[in-house]
Amino acid sequence: MIVFNDFQRTWADVGADAQAAFARVGASGWYVLGREVEAFEAELAEFWGMRHAVGVANGLDAIEIGLRAAGLQAGDRVLTTPMSAFATTLAVLRAGGVPVFVDVDSDGALDLDAADAALAAERAAGRPIRFLVPVHLYGRSMDLERLAGLVARHELELVEDCAQSIGAWRDGRAAGSVGRAAACSFYPTKNLGALGDGGALLTDDDDLAELARSLRNYGQERRFEHVRLGMNSRLDEVHAAVLRDSFLPRLHDWTARRAEIADHYRSELRSVRVPSAAEPGSHVWHLFRVEVDPAEREGFLEHLRAQEVQCGVHYPHLIPDQTALAGHDFEVLGPLPNARRVATASVSLPIHPYLTDDEVSRVVEACNAWNGER
Ligand SMILES: *Cc1c(COP(=O)(O)O)cnc(C)c1O
Repeated sequence: MIVFNDFQRTWADVGADAQAAFARVGASGWYVLGREVEAFEAELAEFWGMRHAVGVANGLDAIEIGLRAAGLQAGDRVLTTPMSAFATTLAVLRAGGVPVFVDVDSDGALDLDAADAALAAERAAGRPIRFLVPVHLYGRSMDLERLAGLVARHELELVEDCAQSIGAWRDGRAAGSVGRAAACSFYPTKNLGALGDGGALLTDDDDLAELARSLRNYGQERRFEHVRLGMNSRLDEVHAAVLRDSFLPRLHDWTARRAEIADHYRSELRSVRVPSAAEPGSHVWHLFRVEVDPAEREGFLEHLRAQEVQCGVHYPHLIPDQTALAGHDFEVLGPLPNARRVATASVSLPIHPYLTDDEVSRVVEACNAWNGER
């Protein structure tokens, strides 16, 4: 079986480094918010080209903390995308915001034209939207110049969901550097995945970073002095050490390997619609999403399973259609035809960095063979 994520091969590679980091933290006798987290935060911020990284418990919390630190108040409306991991919207709701959905573009990311029109219309109607949470989906950086233009034109507080896009750069800047803050996740399947849950908030704003450090730690400013209601959302020392010693140093090569596999897929796949070309470095290929005829998707997935290729679907349901949203305030501006197409047509092929060339060829053969069998 060609697996979607190969944690065994990852461990075979990183295990010795990770065990050394684990032993160091164990022997230190200090397990929460200490030197390891500080050192990892410094390296992550440097990697990202931003002033601060604040380690938190997961990506969901990173988005929530980012929104709260950017000033979101209960009832504030937040423009966001209907096509993402549910966590994007869940974070908005947990922060007290009201999600407002507009359609996505052909790559599955928030459609900036649709967003611009919706923001202009809401402002003209006297109900301006102040917050924006887009997602650099599948690892592809959105158009950062246009995103910055939108933020300036509509005076938005922007928190970027970078859970899938760590290391993506476009127009000479990192995805995540346009807004007040960027959220990332170290969930094991992510490009920089830990041996468990973790996340971080990146920002150039000194005050916002301070606020985020307080919010992740019960809202304390000094020990036993609670000035706001925070959460317990701390990155563990052991995860910070493992990330810094064994994962972050490999991220560059992993991303390069993902890009190599993506190039191969893009040039060899015949029977499916492949992602559009991306400027070099602007796509870190968290997922390789192809499109098939929705009526044939089940058959295609079955065919790949029979060929021992493990695939995924990202994402089969639109967020506003999820049962959990019933009874909560949210808005959908306009129809969502692109998001509905992405939900019904998408298939994600394996693209983890430990795939061998032979396995990549087998995935291509399996996909191309399906066309003949229809
Ligand atoms: C994974 C993910 C999250 C949530 O991250 P967790 O660490 O699992 O909480 C949020 N947004 C997107 C786009 C994701 O892919």
